[in-house]
Amino acid sequence: MIYLDYNATTPVDKRVVDAMIPFFGINFANSASDHSMGVEAKNAVDKSRLDIANLIHAKSNEIVFTSGATESNNLALLGFASKNKGDKNHIITSRIEHPSVLNPCKHLESLGFQVTYLPVDKYGLVDPDVFEDSVTKDTFLISIMFANNEVGTIQSIYEIGRIARRHNILFHTDAAQAVGYVPIDVDKMNIDLMSMSAHKFYGPKGVGALFVRSRIPRVSLLPIVFGGGQERGMRSGTLNVPLIVGMGVACKLVHKNMPEEHKRFKVLVQKIYEEIKQNNLEVKINGHDIQRLPHNLNIEIPGVDNKWLLLKMKDFCFSTGSACSVLHDEPSYVLSAMGLDRKRINNCIRISIGRDTTDEEVNSFVDDINKYTKESVSVN
Ligand SMILES: *Cc1c(COP(=O)(O)O)cnc(C)c1O
Repeated sequence: MIYLDYNATTPVDKRVVDAMIPFFGINFANSASDHSMGVEAKNAVDKSRLDIANLIHAKSNEIVFTSGATESNNLALLGFASKNKGDKNHIITSRIEHPSVLNPCKHLESLGFQVTYLPVDKYGLVDPDVFEDSVTKDTFLISIMFANNEVGTIQSIYEIGRIARRHNILFHTDAAQAVGYVPIDVDKMNIDLMSMSAHKFYGPKGVGALFVRSRIPRVSLLPIVFGGGQERGMRSGTLNVPLIVGMGVACKLVHKNMPEEHKRFKVLVQKIYEEIKQNNLEVKINGHDIQRLPHNLNIEIPGVDNKWLLLKMKDFCFSTGSACSVLHDEPSYVLSAMGLDRKRINNCIRISIGRDTTDEEVNSFVDDINKYTKESVSVN
């Protein structure tokens, strides 16, 4: 099996597994207990908090642990909206957000909030000027994803952050795909709330975090989970120490390896694209040429049905849409928002590489895809 679906999830790095194991066994204490074993667990959680904060230029007290980016997005949107209820009521987001942003927004509409869904251009980019034009005196929050999970387009985060700050609007970004792949500085980017997920960068599934700015401005949220008041009251529940430790180590690893991995991914992705393109000049990239994730490649191969290709290439794991839209067997709303019709969307595939991807794997993928593309195009 050759795995080329790192945008969906990544394997847990061996060093992450090794760091987690003691906290499932010998060191199983509750990090809120005040005995020595509890203190040890709390120290491990604090260390992890610091490693995560360092990766994004935040402070440890600005990291709230959650079960993943889905929960972080829900907490950011629902928690900040309910804090603002009765005051301002307009939220701005985009049409290509992950369902864990779009569905909370829909829910907020049913509660009386107004939501504007900004369009994107053919590269999947939100136009910051269009954002600024849609601001009203009632706008209190903008939620725009850092990088898109299907096409890898990285939004104009600096500009969006600047505009949001100028209008006193809080800026939330779903950075599940960006953390660990591109440098992030929450201060320079004027980010107030940011969602992260460990399993997208070689950490375990089921753990994530929400960055919540602590000063200028101090952001305050109402919880969506009520209980013992852990995580400064924003997310109750006993902390999952082993997974949190794993997320911290995963952050340290990407922090150290990012420049080198970024370069390697870009070279490999470029190679895949060029060799597929050489075989079929009609092939097109979906997404932006430069503002893009280094490890993602979404392409349209005219005349080749993506479901057929996936069946033919059973030894390879790549994707014909996001894991979420495949679940419902609907054409990608992201590609549709970028102007592709259903017929073209059925010719699109997403390939995403990672830490364990080798040159040999890439070569064998390119050989197979070129073989089947020829077969399909000659039949049609
Ligand atoms: C994977 C992903 C999520 C969901 O993260 P989970 O931790 O799996 O809940 C949210 N947004 C984006 C952009 C993602 O890629």
